[in-house]
Amino acid sequence: MGAVMIKCPDTGRDIPTGMIADRESFKATPVFFARVLCPLCGKQHEWFAQQAWVAVDSPTATRSRHAVAA
Ligand SMILES: [Zn+2]
Repeated sequence: MGAVMIKCPDTGRDIPTGMIADRESFKATPVFFARVLCPLCGKQHEWFAQQAWVAVDSPTATRSRHAVAA
């Protein structure tokens, strides 16, 4: 299991969608459409399952890496 991530269209950085999935079942999920409140912009972004991926490292590690980069 890992965090489902997308790329923020405004900053180009990876952000967690708040969804947790495992790679195989996420790949098998039919295309869907969702919204996420972006932690970087503070705006809502719309995203499709096609644009998302499952992160292998923990969401916490990803988040702290972004905090350093910001
Ligand atoms: Zn954003």
